[in-house]
Amino acid sequence: MPKPILLSVDDDSDVLRAIERDLRSQYGADYRVIGSDSPERALDILKQLKVRNDSVALLLADQRMPRMNGVEFLQEGMRIFPDAKRALLTAYADTNAAISAINEANINYFFMKPWDPPADNLFPQLDDLLDDWRASYRPAFEGIRVLGTRWSPQCYELRDFLARNHVPYQWVDVELSANDLETKRLLDVLGPDAASLPVVLFPDGTKLLKGVPAEIANKVGLRTRAQTTFYDLAIIGGGPAGLAAAVYGASEGLHTVIVEREAPGGQAGMSSRIENYLGFPTGLSGGDLARRAVVQAQRFGVEILSPQEAVGIRTEGSYRIIKLADGNEISCHALLVATGVQWRRLEAPGIDKLQGAGVYYGGGSTEALSCKGEIVYVIGGANSAGQAAINFAKYAERVVVLVRGDGLASTMSQYLIDQIQQTLNIQIWTHASVAEVHGEKRLKEISVLCSDTSKVERVPASAMFIFIGAMPTTDWLAGMVERDERGFVLTGPDLMHGGERPKGWPLERDPFLLETNVPGLFAVGDVRHGSVKRVASGVGEGSVVVQFIHQYLSKV
Ligand SMILES: Cc1cc2nc3c(=O)[nH]c(=O)nc-3n(C[C@H](O)[C@H](O)[C@H](O)COP(=O)(O)OP(=O)(O)OC[C@H]3O[C@@H](n4cnc5c(N)ncnc54)[C@H](O)[C@@H]3O)c2cc1C
Repeated sequence: MPKPILLSVDDDSDVLRAIERDLRSQYGADYRVIGSDSPERALDILKQLKVRNDSVALLLADQRMPRMNGVEFLQEGMRIFPDAKRALLTAYADTNAAISAINEANINYFFMKPWDPPADNLFPQLDDLLDDWRASYRPAFEGIRVLGTRWSPQCYELRDFLARNHVPYQWVDVELSANDLETKRLLDVLGPDAASLPVVLFPDGTKLLKGVPAEIANKVGLRTRAQTTFYDLAIIGGGPAGLAAAVYGASEGLHTVIVEREAPGGQAGMSSRIENYLGFPTGLSGGDLARRAVVQAQRFGVEILSPQEAVGIRTEGSYRIIKLADGNEISCHALLVATGVQWRRLEAPGIDKLQGAGVYYGGGSTEALSCKGEIVYVIGGANSAGQAAINFAKYAERVVVLVRGDGLASTMSQYLIDQIQQTLNIQIWTHASVAEVHGEKRLKEISVLCSDTSKVERVPASAMFIFIGAMPTTDWLAGMVERDERGFVLTGPDLMHGGERPKGWPLERDPFLLETNVPGLFAVGDVRHGSVKRVASGVGEGSVVVQFIHQYLSKV
């Protein structure tokens, strides 16, 4: 925890040095002592300290300074750090000014110069002031702070990115906390910069205006650039399947890298509670599973580049080469595609402009807390929608699940249906689909088409979470990797037609079980044609594929 600050200001450098020396000798163990030879500079320092979220315990200023006297400085300083104790250093001749300052300008104490010996004339009074300050001191939050508004898609994207990458941060909603004095002070100090939301404030005092995930990634220690250009195994996609392959590959000695577009954990990272994963009888959140897997992979030396996107692949002899979105390339001997699936878009008038401003695809774990006391709509009838409804019901006043069919029985697991039935504030609205979405800057209402009555009902809604199935996004593999008509990647036996190996296959063996039509290029998890769309099966395929990779590498 950073030490609270004692700031002294004096334009006379000898006096400044003397007071700093005395403060440090007596209080250096518990406080950081900062000196400034000008009140203007001292105010700048205070503003920086405010941005860093530091605590200031004491402002000590000489009364006689050109341009701005001590009392004026303390009054200005008080606007930034109102809880700091304020003391003046005065010459005997200024005693009257000091006494009136105590009354008029809320100064806590004045010290006469010279203050020798400090043990009699400085420390006892300062001890008193600092004890008083400590009594109401609450240590400030130390990490990253994000200032923004709930209904801004950019703010949502940034918060979701930080949450999914397990970067702790404090969220300051500048609209909701408009009446909070501390927020007002911070916005004052930021001045015009405060308009460039989202503003990200780092503990080292630096700030990012209109922050986007890629800019923040490096700053918070997420790695987006590979350490070397060649790996035994490169994995595209850091969901359960990719992470499992990385753990098995690296633990068996393969120099391994993962390229992940958003955050390790994949879809599973959005799940509020996975209850069917072996070994966790009470379930675990997807975020927790992802965090554990990342630690495990890193322990075996896996490099994780995130956020970083693969945009193309090619082969050069036995080398498999990935083209990255930032223009760099990574080459490897074995390449694994584990890019899973992405949410299908809901087609409804008005929906696109409200994405991130009340309309969300997927779990929206960052939003769950913000839905306190609100009416939330969940669209879809599969397990992911069920999990989300149960999670939102903990915070929202009411959760309405819209399903096209006449119930959940054919699309959702019974254990989730049972939980939903036991949750009083979840309502299932059957034969219902979204016809239109309304709102200018944020979601206000949705029109629901009721297929049993053919009527459209317009209802108020502040948040709508969409879970209507998912598709692979594999167009960037087209022309090289064989896929089915929906874009899922074909592997192993699915590539064989009438006992014939795939076109252009150069080897004297059939493709391995999880190998594509390009030797040494494998696919696992949800992106693979015919895969079971579950965490455990993704993890299983990711673990098994490493055996085939070893067999492939032994012949390269
Ligand atoms: C809300 C929700 C709840 C779920 N609950 C359960 C459950 O309870 N039990 C269960 O068994 N299953 C559950 N599932 C399904 C399960 O999460 C998936 O089957 C599993 O995550 C698939 O793993 P994967 O690694 O194949 O793909 P994904 O998890 O989809 O991971 C793929 C990763 O690849 C990345 N990626 C994609 N394209 C690129 C690219 N070009 N470059 C770099 N990276 C890229 C993506 O960002 C993503 O992180 C749930 C899914 C969701 C969405």
